[in-house]
Amino acid sequence: MSDTATPAIEGWFTTGPAPALIGTSCQSCGTISFPRETTFCKNPSCTGDEFTDVELSRTGTVWSYTDAQYQPPAPYIPNTDPYVPFALAAVELPEGIVVLGQVADGYGVADLKVGSEVELVVEPLYTDETGVKTIWRWKPTTTESNGAGA
Ligand SMILES: [Zn+2]
Repeated sequence: MSDTATPAIEGWFTTGPAPALIGTSCQSCGTISFPRETTFCKNPSCTGDEFTDVELSRTGTVWSYTDAQYQPPAPYIPNTDPYVPFALAAVELPEGIVVLGQVADGYGVADLKVGSEVELVVEPLYTDETGVKTIWRWKPTTTESNGAGA
């Protein structure tokens, strides 16, 4: 990744050697939201409207996953034309929220199973005239569980 790499979408995650998603914590009740919440607390019994940015856990467990056979909506930006299906994982974080993301380059649904651990990584998504644009992805932390060569 070059020095010109910047997030494809601003304010959703940090970069660097230990990237993390950026969510918000409600100042009234502590409810964690991702993407960042700026208007209403997700807690229906809370009237809080002040939020603090928090970095979410970098690891979570696979809650569900799929091969995306159609092009997802923004902020997923296709980096291939025509569209090529890729694996998507819904990952439950210790904060109790589920975050959807693509699976890291080189991994597919065969590397995933419900309950297995994944780690947040930031990888290049596409390149434009301003440089490399990056996005978060979920990388399996164990790969021996699919029975391939183990
Ligand atoms: Zn709240």
